[in-house]
Amino acid sequence: MTSEKIGRKLIVVGSGKGGVGKSTVSANLAIALAKLGVKVGLIDADIYGPSQPRLMATENEKPHAVDQKMIPIQSPYGVPMLSLGHLVKPGQAIAWRGPMAGNALGQLIDADWADAEVLIADLPPGTGDVQLSMLQKQKPAGAVIVSTPQDLALIDATRAIDLFNQAGVPVIGLVENMAGYACPHCGEVSDPFGAGGAEAAARTMGHDFLGRIPLDIAIRTASDAGTPPAATDAQEGVAFHQIAARLKDWLNQSAAE
Ligand code: ADP
Repeated sequence: MTSEKIGRKLIVVGSGKGGVGKSTVSANLAIALAKLGVKVGLIDADIYGPSQPRLMATENEKPHAVDQKMIPIQSPYGVPMLSLGHLVKPGQAIAWRGPMAGNALGQLIDADWADAEVLIADLPPGTGDVQLSMLQKQKPAGAVIVSTPQDLALIDATRAIDLFNQAGVPVIGLVENMAGYACPHCGEVSDPFGAGGAEAAARTMGHDFLGRIPLDIAIRTASDAGTPPAATDAQEGVAFHQIAARLKDWLNQSAAE
């Protein structure tokens, strides 16, 4: 896959609400795609809580600009990245309005991404004007939706799909996160939030199901430590690699169309 063939594609990762693992999925998918040989950049446009600097171990870095263009920060995982978290002071609250947020994402997209073929953008959670304005301005090539399996979360995911439809952004598929909890002591698998809901919802709505990621304490501790599981040989990374392979298939297919 070359950049000539696919151009530079913006893929957004969205969710109907916060806390479902959208940022975790974005970071791990970017790293896993890079391992599959795709030249990928990661954009953190989550204005409510940019968490990519911590996930990607670039918390203390600041991007600089050359000729008015921002130069992405090199993460240790072969993925250049830019986050709104690199641009505002930690804990600084900004009252973003829709158009402002759309411009902020635009500035991150317009950075000097060199030979990146794909930009993965972690969107703010939710389905309001801020998100709609970002999508209408930037016209992503496709969207990945992250949801937990319980019914209430799925109602939010359905709203997210409506938002992407409204903005004319093709839905690549749904990811079910925090599905099935393997007890680290006895190994028994339980389903605190149910399981399979996102897959069923995807099928009902005629969208692809991209994969299921278990609720696993090791995913949280690795993420908090700035070493996403997809970057290591950890067993917890396998689900992310499988989803990244499906995303790569989608990219190849959309390049061929
Ligand atoms: P969002 O971006 O949707 O707000 P995050 O990616 O920040 O969500 O995840 C919220 C919290 O849940 C973080 O502490 C993260 O480490 C944790 N988390 C995400 N996915 C999983 C998972 N599959 N297993 C365990 N913890 C997870």
